[in-house]
Amino acid sequence: AAARAWEERDLAAITQDKHRIDVAANLGGIKDASQVLASGGDGVGLLRTEFVFMSRRSAPDLASQTALYRPLFDALKGRPLLARTLDVGGDKPLPYWSSPKEDNPFLGVRGIRLCQQHPALLKTQIRALLMAANNRPVRIMFPMITDIAEWRWAKDRVNEIQAELNATQVELGIMIEVPAAALCAPVFAQEVDFFSIGTNDLTQYTMAVDRGNGELAYLGDGLHPSVLQLIKMTVEAAHQQGKWVGVCGELAADAQAVPILLGLGVDELSVSLARLPLVKSQIRQLSFAHCQWLAQQALVADDAAGVRRLMSQAEKGIA
Ligand code: PEP
Ligand code: MG
Repeated sequence: AAARAWEERDLAAITQDKHRIDVAANLGGIKDASQVLASGGDGVGLLRTEFVFMSRRSAPDLASQTALYRPLFDALKGRPLLARTLDVGGDKPLPYWSSPKEDNPFLGVRGIRLCQQHPALLKTQIRALLMAANNRPVRIMFPMITDIAEWRWAKDRVNEIQAELNATQVELGIMIEVPAAALCAPVFAQEVDFFSIGTNDLTQYTMAVDRGNGELAYLGDGLHPSVLQLIKMTVEAAHQQGKWVGVCGELAADAQAVPILLGLGVDELSVSLARLPLVKSQIRQLSFAHCQWLAQQALVADDAAGVRRLMSQAEKGIA
């Protein structure tokens, strides 16, 4: 199956009943950039930009950041690059500034919260991304958005730099990875261009399970109906405003989750390069109408185990 998926990697991800979705790649550096199109990817759906900032002794300046982003745009040959702004803090401190110790780093100064404390950091990163893009398509999104004011603040920073650089091809969105943002998705949907659902953190914050705690892994399953309800609300809110929604957490590459995410109406899945051809191949074998039925069943299941039982039955052709 893997060999077949690889051979057919350039075929679009279209279900048997002709529902098309995009499958993009998650990247955490530049070394695999040339593999995105070679693996059949419809662009990059999540560039984790932490690599630009980690393992160095001082903050990267504008020139060095621009030089790191430019080869990514070159490799994508006009396909969109979705870059997420710096997502560190709490458990992932930066070596070149001291952050106060926090009792609950996952509930602390992370993601956009840290950038709000250091606006120059965000502004330099945005400027570098827009300069590297040089009017090729770029999507920028902000991590850990919880409250509308955080989004508006970040969007205003981008708009300032955009005007100054006369950059036109920019779409702006947010990660949906905090339940508060999913619950208020109708408000955000009026202002953003897109949502990208980070199921790793969305599951962590919904289930109150530290994503790195192996002992609680049984409880931290993104197929829990509570998480699926939040995904559903997010997609409905976005589509009401004509906006698109991607999923870029691990769930997007989980074979039991793919049919449900499709059925919930997600427009794009962003997965690791290793999984990309397999996810596309799986989608080509699915019926969208059946996915919608499975999603309805999953939303009212008792728990994640119940959803996984449903999906095992679907795999055997008995659900
Ligand atoms: C997520 O939270 O699902 C996500 C994609 O971001 P990260 O794994 O980098 O926190
Ligand atoms: Mg996250």
